[in-house]
Amino acid sequence: MKFSYVSYLKCPKCSERYESNQKQQLCKCGSPLLVKYDLEALKEKFRREELKNREPNLWRYHELLPVQNEENIVTMGEGMTPLLPMNRIGKDMLIPNLLMKDEGIIPTGTFKARGAAVGVSKAKELGIKEIAMPTNGNAGAAWSLYAARAEMKATIVMPTDAPKITRNECAVSGANLSLVEGVISDAGKIVQQAVNEHGLFDASTLKEPYRIEGKKTMGLEIAEQLGWKMPDVILYPTGGGVGLIGIYKALTELVSLGWVEGNLPRLVAVQSVGCAPIVKAWREKRGDSDFWEGSSTIAFGINVPKALGDFLVLDAIYKTNGCAVAVEDITTLEEQQRIASLEGTFICPEGAAAFVAARRLRKNGWIKEKETVVVLNTGAGIKYPDTVKVDVPILTDA
Ligand SMILES: *Cc1c(COP(=O)(O)O)cnc(C)c1O
Ligand SMILES: [Zn+2]
Repeated sequence: MKFSYVSYLKCPKCSERYESNQKQQLCKCGSPLLVKYDLEALKEKFRREELKNREPNLWRYHELLPVQNEENIVTMGEGMTPLLPMNRIGKDMLIPNLLMKDEGIIPTGTFKARGAAVGVSKAKELGIKEIAMPTNGNAGAAWSLYAARAEMKATIVMPTDAPKITRNECAVSGANLSLVEGVISDAGKIVQQAVNEHGLFDASTLKEPYRIEGKKTMGLEIAEQLGWKMPDVILYPTGGGVGLIGIYKALTELVSLGWVEGNLPRLVAVQSVGCAPIVKAWREKRGDSDFWEGSSTIAFGINVPKALGDFLVLDAIYKTNGCAVAVEDITTLEEQQRIASLEGTFICPEGAAAFVAARRLRKNGWIKEKETVVVLNTGAGIKYPDTVKVDVPILTDA
């Protein structure tokens, strides 16, 4: 048995093929590259029941991941996060079968750990010693920490108002961190310059092919946790859209393998009204998005004015009869509080926005009462301590 059934990289735009055992960035046409596996061979040699005895982390799916030699795996035990029933909040929004995939308990506190674990492991396998990337905070934190574990150097650029804790995570791991006034695309320009001048490996969102593969494991886990049945709807807070592209890719691969049956779930991209390029494009029935000027939202992980993989996100939405929803920050914060008080789960604002979207889509009938609905909570609320305002009485002796 091979450890990985990776076979090559393919451009989803122009169909050009590339080798997966050499360093690759974008296709020469400018598109991100997708990893292809020999699913025919895997289907013949492997049965999903064999997964049962494996460790509860994302590497249990190593046949469907790009790392070829097990020794190159850089792991902190990430993956197999809980798929929690959300009975009280589900009752409140009239979705009795409401589930939350909770990424808040993964190393580094956000699902960015999945992309970093697989991305850094594959980079190590390819002999890469130094990576560079722009970030809204969480990705930079995760990649810095996994890079440290892999004895790799990391150069990170983030906006000045990215969550403080993510700045600290980069710094404490020894990354070469710089701040920039502006948004992630401004950080991206600086990284591009450094990459051109110093020949660093560019680990920006979708500029290397393997972060998607890490995030894909959320889709594999949801399917396995539901006993290889598809949910009806999956809602995902969408910035660069890697998670949504990844989940779609995972479920498509599982269908090819014959491990799951039925229609793919309808995929919902959730954004903030302060930064909603995908929602706007979807409303206009377009295949790609425009740069969102002056973007701003407290849900920092989804403050991405223009995603390189926008066409892949939109394609996944159209192919699954999904939709895209924009949510106000104030409503997001109310939902975050309601969920904490009803369920005991302190989730991140991005995740809370996705719950608001579920509530709205149920209200307007797009989600039916009997449907099984999975909301991705992409990170821990404790990474955003400033989103909760408290006014607590201080007791004094009478
Ligand atoms: C990055 C991030 C997102 C958005 O993820 P994409 O895959 O880039 O769309 C959502 N939530 C949190 C907490 C994030 O850090
Ligand atoms: Zn191409």
